[in-house]
Amino acid sequence: MALQLSYRLLGRQLSAGQATRVGRRRLSLLRERALVAGQWTVAADGATFDVINPATDDVIASVPDLGEADAARAVAAAAEAQRSWGQTAPRRRSQLLQAYFRLLEEHGEQLAALLTAEQGKPLAEARAEVAYGAGYIEWFAGEARRIHGEVVDGAAPHKETLMIRQPAGVAALITPWNFPIAMLLRKLGAALACGCAAVAKPAEDTPLSALALAALAEQAGLPPGVLSVLTASRARTPEVGAALCRDPRVAVLSFTGSTAVGKLLYAQCASTVKKLSLELGGNSPFIVFDSADLEKAVAGCMASKFRNSGQTCISTNRILVQAGVYDRFVAALGSVMASQLTAGDGAADGVNLGPLVNNAQLEKVSGLVSESVRQGARQVWPRPGSAAPEGRFYPPTLLTEVTPDMACFREEVFGPVAACARFETEEEALAIANSSDMGLAGYIFTENIAQAWRVSRALECGMVGVNEGLISQPEAAFGGVKLSGLGREGGHYSVEDYTEVKYICFGTK
Ligand code: NAP
Repeated sequence: MALQLSYRLLGRQLSAGQATRVGRRRLSLLRERALVAGQWTVAADGATFDVINPATDDVIASVPDLGEADAARAVAAAAEAQRSWGQTAPRRRSQLLQAYFRLLEEHGEQLAALLTAEQGKPLAEARAEVAYGAGYIEWFAGEARRIHGEVVDGAAPHKETLMIRQPAGVAALITPWNFPIAMLLRKLGAALACGCAAVAKPAEDTPLSALALAALAEQAGLPPGVLSVLTASRARTPEVGAALCRDPRVAVLSFTGSTAVGKLLYAQCASTVKKLSLELGGNSPFIVFDSADLEKAVAGCMASKFRNSGQTCISTNRILVQAGVYDRFVAALGSVMASQLTAGDGAADGVNLGPLVNNAQLEKVSGLVSESVRQGARQVWPRPGSAAPEGRFYPPTLLTEVTPDMACFREEVFGPVAACARFETEEEALAIANSSDMGLAGYIFTENIAQAWRVSRALECGMVGVNEGLISQPEAAFGGVKLSGLGREGGHYSVEDYTEVKYICFGTK
């Protein structure tokens, strides 16, 4: 099978200086101070770090490089603000979240531009992320009024048995760079709805989105201290993280990021026995059965594989295709990749594949691809020996004849790499899919309804897409099993993370 693959790499639309100036003029939500204890502030020692546009290498802004003492200040203010925020009527909290949602909608274009500038994703995807993230605020504005306990009949007639829900307390929210708006809003919406004050720590690569969200929360009327945003460089982050984990005034730690860091935070939280929500790494199987509608399967694969250049925790990572349709599926996927993907600066028209976020990502992805090819995978495209693209752009890559022991199947690639393996039976596909330590999402494509149910139940993961490649939505429970984490975010499930149940026994004799 000879695939004629090519893709376009659009040149930079603006010079470095132009991009920065144009960006700044448009971005009134751009903040170069952190929000700590109700004040827009700099670091005590004046330290800052630069935020880089990964497509152009421009410095977009510099933000404070905060440390342990700033974290303690933010937590102290949150603990103080918690007293009244936790007592605020749910209806009022709901109204405030509604106002926040409206502001997010109103400033959607600006948030999207900021997101594209610091993260690199194409503008259309940035807009979709803003809408998706704001959807959590809208959802939790409603949920704030539906948080309730229960009254049950106890064992004895003279005991009234009540369970009430109360805010758990201050929540620390640590978020990654891949969905810096949606991941923070998903956590923040739930925390605020439940009556918890929050201290957020965004990733080094993407602090500007979080600061813009904080500015809008302030505008919406969130009382001072209820939300702080601690910006920190990768060098200082461990100190800030440890301070948040070890502080007894922090009741909840909600983290989205890698499994390695999740395990560290889990251990650090042991001394204060916090409530924990851990949304960690994935290694999603994408299973195409002989009975699949191949057009749907290819569309689902494109959506779940190439969104955010593959830097999505629920990205398809292991494409498993049944022998009867393997050749046709791989050929169709290759030609759609060739005709639909245009790489470039996410701010440019027509681009739907941005750069990888940083050099470490670039090295990781190219290392995993080279290792897989060394292990026997066939690189169909780009043709081996093709010129490497410039900067942080990694070319969309198609690997075939992959086997489960290869690097690109064993690890989460987090890049635009479609790695395809062939299988013969449903049992074999399930055995491969479940052989991973990770268990975040899985996708199956089949027109056989019995098979769809059977395989959905048998997959060891927290979420399954059946004939669907885009599964995230505010109404649903997002989360994983095994090393993919603890707890669920979204729907009414987040309420578990940010509330405590108190049992009250009323003696009535
Ligand atoms: P990461 O290195 O774990 O970073 C995530 C966040 O943790 C960042 O804010 C990072 O700050 C911070 N961090 C790093 N070391 C820390 C420490 N010692 N103490 C406290 N905080 C620390 O992960 P990433 O590379 O940004 O994100 C990619 C990973 O996240 C992938 O594995 C992906 O699957 C996973 N992810 C999971 C979900 C989900 O919902 N399950 C969603 C998105 C992403 P710095 O940037 O300053 O280091």
